[in-house]
Amino acid sequence: MNTHWGRMILGLILTAPHTLLPLVPREPVPAVGEARPVPAGLAETFLSEGVRELEVGEGQGRALVKELPAEGDWLSPFTGTDAAYESFSRSVRERVDPEPYALLRRQRAIYERAGFSEELPKFDDVIEGRLGRIRPINRLEAAVLMLHQQRFGRESEFEAFILRNAQGRLRVYYNGGPELSPPSAPAVRKRVEADAAAGWRLAFHLHNHPFLFSNPAEDFAGTTIPSGGASFGDVSTYLRDAKNLGLGGALITNGFHTLELGPSDFDRLASSWKKDLALLGQSQVFW
Ligand SMILES: [Zn+2]
Repeated sequence: MNTHWGRMILGLILTAPHTLLPLVPREPVPAVGEARPVPAGLAETFLSEGVRELEVGEGQGRALVKELPAEGDWLSPFTGTDAAYESFSRSVRERVDPEPYALLRRQRAIYERAGFSEELPKFDDVIEGRLGRIRPINRLEAAVLMLHQQRFGRESEFEAFILRNAQGRLRVYYNGGPELSPPSAPAVRKRVEADAAAGWRLAFHLHNHPFLFSNPAEDFAGTTIPSGGASFGDVSTYLRDAKNLGLGGALITNGFHTLELGPSDFDRLASSWKKDLALLGQSQVFW
């Protein structure tokens, strides 16, 4: 999510139209004697049961909630095969090697040339392993990304709130739309807040940073790094949700790798921001 994508993405112009697909694909019932359909893909498996659509009001955004049992391998690395994922992976690899540190160094150089010097320490922290941990994408992240791409294309963002209860059950809220930031969805946030008040732990906030190959500028993004600072963008959202909702971690995925941030990373982001504030002679807390 980026309220300041104009800064993150230099000169971005979106041209690709997006097609809305049905939220939950209906599987045809095979007639007697008819061969069973081929195994469903990752997104279809995710959507196959325990999913409810949520009312989000006006606009093109869509939201759903999905329950997952404590057992299962949704949080393990994604190693399976999936036709939609293979197509996505191939289309990116045709343009760039998605090695996460090379992507980060590439965007850091663009920011440096553009004079965004205040962003550079954050890049260095992620690249040198002082902020968060980059790991391969897991199955849940891949499934949510695929269902999002099926609805809204590859150059848009979703967010997901991943909650866990005392028995280890997961509840996942997906909120996505065709824009470069997930739509504002107060109805989803209200449900997350109510769950948190009812004893669910907000384990993770997940969102994607897409590859933006239609960007006429050279910055095609796809970087696993939180946007913004303590008063805007991803960082401000994390600090606010950690303080108000007990957010346990944050995940930023580009479809290949995911940056995982934990409480000590939030502390680091908060303290570096406090230094920035001191330099500016301010003490106001925005969140
Ligand atoms: Zn973001």
